Amino acid sequence: MHQEDGAREDFTCVFVNPVGQRRADFQHGCDGMFANLRVAAGAEQARALLAREPADLLVLDLERCDLAIDLAALGALVAERAGAPVLVLCPFTNARWVPALMAFGPLDYAIGPLRAQQTRALLAARMRTGFSVAAPGAPTPSETELRTLLAVRSACQQALADADDSGRFAEHLCAALAGWPGVVHAALFQHRDGDLHLEAEQGVEGLHLMALLAHDGRLLHSPLRHAFPGLLAAATGEFTLLDTLDKAGEPALAVRLDTFGARMVVGVPIPGQGPGGPMGSLCLLFGDARAFSPAQLQALDDLAGLAAHGLRMAEVTRENEALLARITHLATTDALTDLANRRHGEGLLEQEIKRARRYRLPLALILFDIDRFSQINDTFGHPVGDLVLRTVADTARALLRSSDVLVRSGGEEFQVIASHTSAIDALKMAEKLRAAIEQVEIPGCDHVTISLGVAQLGEGESGDSMAVRTHAALARAKRAGRNCIELAMS
Ligand code: GH3
Ligand code: MG
Ligand code: MG
Repeated sequence: MHQEDGAREDFTCVFVNPVGQRRADFQHGCDGMFANLRVAAGAEQARALLAREPADLLVLDLERCDLAIDLAALGALVAERAGAPVLVLCPFTNARWVPALMAFGPLDYAIGPLRAQQTRALLAARMRTGFSVAAPGAPTPSETELRTLLAVRSACQQALADADDSGRFAEHLCAALAGWPGVVHAALFQHRDGDLHLEAEQGVEGLHLMALLAHDGRLLHSPLRHAFPGLLAAATGEFTLLDTLDKAGEPALAVRLDTFGARMVVGVPIPGQGPGGPMGSLCLLFGDARAFSPAQLQALDDLAGLAAHGLRMAEVTRENEALLARITHLATTDALTDLANRRHGEGLLEQEIKRARRYRLPLALILFDIDRFSQINDTFGHPVGDLVLRTVADTARALLRSSDVLVRSGGEEFQVIASHTSAIDALKMAEKLRAAIEQVEIPGCDHVTISLGVAQLGEGESGDSMAVRTHAALARAKRAGRNCIELAMS
């Protein structure tokens, strides 16, 4: 027995790990610490050893264990201890094994990787002060702990009120998470568009995780993705708990985080739907290393579930908005030319008339129609006719101001609703349109021309009356020989 350890001389221990080298290293590292140290490769062997002779301490070492580890078998061992000390040594990348085993009974845990010296010091300290396991039966969290958890959970739940926007939801959620005792900084990472995004972070002034972690502005390619729990949890879907930063093997990162007062980092995966992996992660940076109780671990899981719910709601809202935009587009747009359709044009004209009246501004309407369009269809075929319609629409669109509205009001008939425009200006605009369309080259077809009717909104005039006058002007232009403009009578 090494007295400097301060450990108890009569302590007996059973150590479990499937890897022979781990068992040998433990035996070597803890040489002389225990009155009796026995090792087992698995749960069955450990059970047999304990049946033959009980041990004061059971160490379940999960380092180098397979992801498909038989937690139920180890859990049964924990249950059989009935409150006697169990210490779980868990790698930081698979911290979910801790709450999974806690479900079977009380246990103490330490996060690895731990060097032999650290394991020895840890065991000695625990043997002096006792393993922090509760009395047999389910560990009961204190009232203060439950009150705090309730406050954090309620605050996080309130963030759902913002769940129509993922950015605002994430911000609200991080602000709520920053209220978790000991948390100095909280962040939410989300997978989107082939990369991982930092949706929000709250806490330490001047701490920007993007600047600290991203590589070429991308988080998924960060060289720290194997070391930083927020990135690891989002990439692997594993609960990741780094209780001292130097365990991740990235000393520079540990030093940077330490300067911001962060000494323990937790990454909780946000579960995705189906087999596609996690949606992202919650990342909590603590000011000091601390052990989690089962209630706290459960709360972290619940909060990740709540985050998943909020992000999914935001996604559904985004999808609904996109769907509504598509439906609105389909209902208001002409499919061939992508211009406003007749019905939408009528509504827009009414709107512009109201505005012109309210602000006492001039408003003009230009109606134009392709000359002898049936001949184009008859001579060159319908597909060429369609191309002519598209070309005329594009040519007109390119000439107009952004405030003008171009409408396909009929088969080969178009309208321009020109706000802020008098009859004189509308005539100039009409002439520009006429000249441009006459010039335009259309593959597979001769040049085309248009005839135009122009009107300015009269005092107290309705949209229908203006349209009738414009149609009459257009008819006069046709009668006058086409490829020309007529001003409507007032
Ligand atoms: P005008 O100079 O007097 O205007 O003679 P027009 O031949 O252009 O006039 P009319 O109204 O007789 O013919 C319009 C033609 O436009 C008839 C119709 O088949 C054609 N048309 C209407 N919509 C479309 C369309 O979407 N595509 C094609 N290719 N043709 C269309
Ligand atoms: Mg025509
Ligand atoms: Mg026509």
